[in-house]
Amino acid sequence: MTFNRRTFLSSLAATPVVSLVSPAAQAQTAASVALPPVLHSFSIGEARVTVLLDGHLPLPSQIFAAYDEEKAKVALAQGLHRMTPEGLNIPVNGYLVEIGEEKILVDAGTADLMGPSLGGLGRALAATGVKPAEIGTVLLTHMHPDHSGGLVAAGGKAAFPNAELVVSRTEWGFWHDDAIMASVPEESRGFFLMARGTVAPYADRLNLFDGEAAVAPGFTALPLPGHTPGHSGFMLDAGAEQLLFWGDVVHSVALQFAYPDWTIAYDTDPALTAETRRKMLDRAASDNLLLTGSHLDFPGLGRVLRQGEAYAYQPAPWQFGL
Ligand SMILES: [Zn+2]
Repeated sequence: MTFNRRTFLSSLAATPVVSLVSPAAQAQTAASVALPPVLHSFSIGEARVTVLLDGHLPLPSQIFAAYDEEKAKVALAQGLHRMTPEGLNIPVNGYLVEIGEEKILVDAGTADLMGPSLGGLGRALAATGVKPAEIGTVLLTHMHPDHSGGLVAAGGKAAFPNAELVVSRTEWGFWHDDAIMASVPEESRGFFLMARGTVAPYADRLNLFDGEAAVAPGFTALPLPGHTPGHSGFMLDAGAEQLLFWGDVVHSVALQFAYPDWTIAYDTDPALTAETRRKMLDRAASDNLLLTGSHLDFPGLGRVLRQGEAYAYQPAPWQFGL
């Protein structure tokens, strides 16, 4: 593993943890108005995929290590994206995948961990008619709270009581390593405690995978390290069509297709994150992959086009009856 502890520590030291999960944000959650269910379904071969919007998250410009005001202005204008006073608002997408009798969730949203602009995945799932108890497998791209927070229901119980939790062994080991946790700045330890808390109810039904393992019917894991040590995508082969769930390869459609080297403070290993992103973008463009991402503009389905030294995102249009 090319994980580098020093880069992790320096990136976490610069991480504005408070802006992500503050007590104030948590306190607001209870009083906030619930987001309406937002979801979008489409077919991929034999699979039915429903994108479940958890909500949105602001990325302040300071979070990008190489942020350049002028370059950003041009890229934002070209892509019709707007910088709000809070930052660039990016979606948090999770997924229900139905193949035959199997009901699989890819990432679980935030539940009440990250404030009032998020936490809608449960309501979106309810709107599909599928009950949490029917989910047989949860595939987790990584153990950040916008992906694993929704694994836990009120009272600390598993939100998906019959699901096996599938996550990279590297990812699991990293967040459960007491020595690493002890060595990060105190204000960053909350990430470790949160990660552990969200997966704890599944400790007796875990599937920890290594490398490019087959992890569920139709799904193969794809290691995409950097953002976190065990960050992984999942390739769905549904017969006639394939779809790559690439997790957090890109956080900002507006900026990171044009500037793939613009890492963010939450990247564990920034250099590896940029390298993985460039490799993945190159492969996606070369292979004309259909893909979806946790933070690609909702509903987050599209492909990658080459544009000079960089790339562009081609979102699939909203389509009916598919
Ligand atoms: Zn994320």
